[in-house]
Amino acid sequence: MKPIRRIVIVGGGTAGWMAAAALARLREGSDLAITLIESEMIGTVGVGEATIPPFVEFNQLLDIDEREMMAAAQATFKLGIQFVNWGKQGDSYIHPFGNYGYPIDGVGFHQHWHRARAAGDRRPIQAFNVETMAAFFGKFSRTEDYNRSGEYPPVNYAYHLDATRYAKFLRGYAEGRRVVRREGRVVDVALDGESGFVTSVTMDDGRAVEGDLFVDCSGFRGLLIEQALGTGYEDWRHLLPCDRAVALPCAREDGSPPAPFTRATAHSAGWQWCVPLQHRNGNGHVYCSEYMADDEAHDILVNNLAGKPQAEPNFLRFVTGRRKKFWNKNVVALGLAAGFMEPLESTSIHLINTGINKLIALLSLEGISQAQEDAFNRFTIKEYLRIRDFLVLHYNATAREDSEFWNYVRTMEIPDSLAEKVELFRLNGQIFREEDELFTETSWAAVMMGQGVGMQGHNPMADRMSAPALKAELDTIERSVRFVVDRMPSHADYLKRYCPAP
Ligand code: FAD
Repeated sequence: MKPIRRIVIVGGGTAGWMAAAALARLREGSDLAITLIESEMIGTVGVGEATIPPFVEFNQLLDIDEREMMAAAQATFKLGIQFVNWGKQGDSYIHPFGNYGYPIDGVGFHQHWHRARAAGDRRPIQAFNVETMAAFFGKFSRTEDYNRSGEYPPVNYAYHLDATRYAKFLRGYAEGRRVVRREGRVVDVALDGESGFVTSVTMDDGRAVEGDLFVDCSGFRGLLIEQALGTGYEDWRHLLPCDRAVALPCAREDGSPPAPFTRATAHSAGWQWCVPLQHRNGNGHVYCSEYMADDEAHDILVNNLAGKPQAEPNFLRFVTGRRKKFWNKNVVALGLAAGFMEPLESTSIHLINTGINKLIALLSLEGISQAQEDAFNRFTIKEYLRIRDFLVLHYNATAREDSEFWNYVRTMEIPDSLAEKVELFRLNGQIFREEDELFTETSWAAVMMGQGVGMQGHNPMADRMSAPALKAELDTIERSVRFVVDRMPSHADYLKRYCPAP
């Protein structure tokens, strides 16, 4: 085994700078050399603005000051995603971070709620979730602002941020910790004749940059993992058929404050995102080229903005799916180089985060072994498959019949793993989460119910409690949610006080 002394990261988008910052933090005190290569001429994908709660922990692990980062990235708080027109046109629901109530007698809250509902209690399940109620009223607080005693439900949040500014922020962090940045284009990749390992990359000015471990963060092109190593790609367009996007930031001219949630509005062959930042809204329309032309997708987007566009439209093409291996020889792919599903549940930056966590957990400075590669790939494939199933649910569980696109996704054959989850939920609301699956019971319940997958019954374990005791329990939860939300300031006021952009 060849010892690891030099790590080379190719690419300086969100993936490249997240990896550089985390590795720089890890190697503090060691002499591991970290180099990042990026090309301003090529640029970054320039979208990717909504995150999920584990991203807050990523920043905490790096000891990043939340206020400073949020101000630098013009960030806002995110409590969940509102889905509009998905189950059917005119419908709307929120997939919140955090939980509906809490498990009672070891049985999921939605089971007890279903029992109460069947007995005539008309309260919607949303009344038992802090994040949904705060989002609904445009409010926000962090848990530590009101919950020192721990008696009230916590607020789970993530950020909306300007990804380009965030990458710049991380660049400062990483360069301050001895990461060396090289500007220029990689034009050639050299492989060892025997092992097939990457030995160096050559820049357009002729310089060669040698390394022992390479992190491919070069975006969709997968410069090392695909173009040099020919790893192969598993195409998931039969399940996630959207393959284009047009992004267009806009001003918020209607005077509305930034909402503390992402909005995903379904259209006739895809959906539109709205990500509110402090200074503007990020918008985009993700669509399927088989059913919609670029012009039409652009027009739909422009007709559904909160204000004037602030840039030229950015058209993007992608193939949903994943690299057959994420770690191949001495190359680890992160970000778009590893694969891309859909921005629907904001999971791409999360997968960069978990990729970095796994890399750091498996990394040995003694060298690279097959066991590391196998473990990394096995875990990552599981993560991708579970996220894929969750995304497919949004498309497949719909009553929409108004376009060929919806007819296709509604009737397509779905993976057995998802079909089983839907069937179990229908029967009695059971949700089996395998190992450390990302999406919680509340996530699955919110999307199943939001998309119109009804529960025919509930788990009999939920019948053990007496009806008055159940009512008292529900009253307590609803009251504590209301107590917390009533005392929250508006999201806009909170931002102004906590992390105003300079
Ligand atoms: P890129 O941003 O493409 O960066 C690639 C880097 O490689 C650049 O620095 C480039 O200069 C460099 N490079 C490439 N070739 C060379 C070369 N030959 N020589 C030198 N340098 C080179 N994710 C979320 O989590 N939330 C979202 O809301 C979200 N929305 C999205 C919407 C769309 C439409 C798309 C397409 C993606 C979205 N994503 C989202 C995904 C997110 O944008 C990416 O995961 C994230 O930006 C990481 O991108 P990256 O760093 O892998 O690639």
